[in-house]
Amino acid sequence: SRRQGFSSIPNVKWDDVGGLHFLRQEFDRYIVRRIKFPEVYEDFGVDFEIGFLLYGPPGCGKTLIAKAVANEAGANFIHIKGPELLNKYVGESELAVRTIFSRARTCSPCILFFDEVDALTTQRGEEGGWVVGPLLNQLLIELDGSEQRRGVYVIGATNRPEAMDRALLRPGRFGKLIYVPLPNADERGMILKALARRKPIDASVDLMALGRDNACKNLSGADLSALMNEAAMVALEDKLTSSSKSPDGQKWTIKDAHFRTALGKIC
Ligand code: ATP
Repeated sequence: SRRQGFSSIPNVKWDDVGGLHFLRQEFDRYIVRRIKFPEVYEDFGVDFEIGFLLYGPPGCGKTLIAKAVANEAGANFIHIKGPELLNKYVGESELAVRTIFSRARTCSPCILFFDEVDALTTQRGEEGGWVVGPLLNQLLIELDGSEQRRGVYVIGATNRPEAMDRALLRPGRFGKLIYVPLPNADERGMILKALARRKPIDASVDLMALGRDNACKNLSGADLSALMNEAAMVALEDKLTSSSKSPDGQKWTIKDAHFRTALGKIC
């Protein structure tokens, strides 16, 4: 999913996401189970199209959760960056949008993720005013063509919901708005625990307490990820610069002191 517009199943699990339980529930109901049990949803006549808009401050897990949805549903994931779509295909934007949706249908079930979707809005017209460009037009056509949308689920993300084109916010388009907030004290702990899954954290470290610590106030998930990586760096440098054995003969781990040093570096 790293290259613009190409699909793959991401390797992000729900367990990699700290907090945000409410989001998980919503996506389970509207996307994951619908992909897993299509016949049940059909039996109950649930066949309406749905599109989500995740909004909130940067680095709080919007992209991460969209990837987890795809992984849990066993669906492909296509990552489109709004501004790139605008700039790369000047003059060919209709075709680009059509190509993206047709690619998504080809590899359905598919999560089509539009990052910075607020960029896909009115454009500067030839006379200097703002016009609904061909790109937005084509996007609305694709979003409304429900027959063709089968198996393609759209999720948009933005830090600036107020900049979104109103037309995109209708039901079936990016109509279901969900706020993804900065984590609170407990959620910071949960995010640290999720990030710690692949790191040798010392048993003496209390990640929930670290999350509640004043030093972590106002940190986003992305900041906490930077903290975790920096702490790992400090710990591994400790290992590389000491004699070959750890002081107490145990495995080298990431300890409180490493987190303290790391906090000093990232803040
Ligand atoms: P942006 O608006 O800048 O695109 P975003 O909300 O999409 O940000 P992500 O890209 O999902 O943020 O998060 C960036 C990184 O921060 C993730 O790859 C992950 O390492 C970490 N992260 C953010 N939120 C969480 C979370 N809730 N749980 C675990 N890790 C998180």
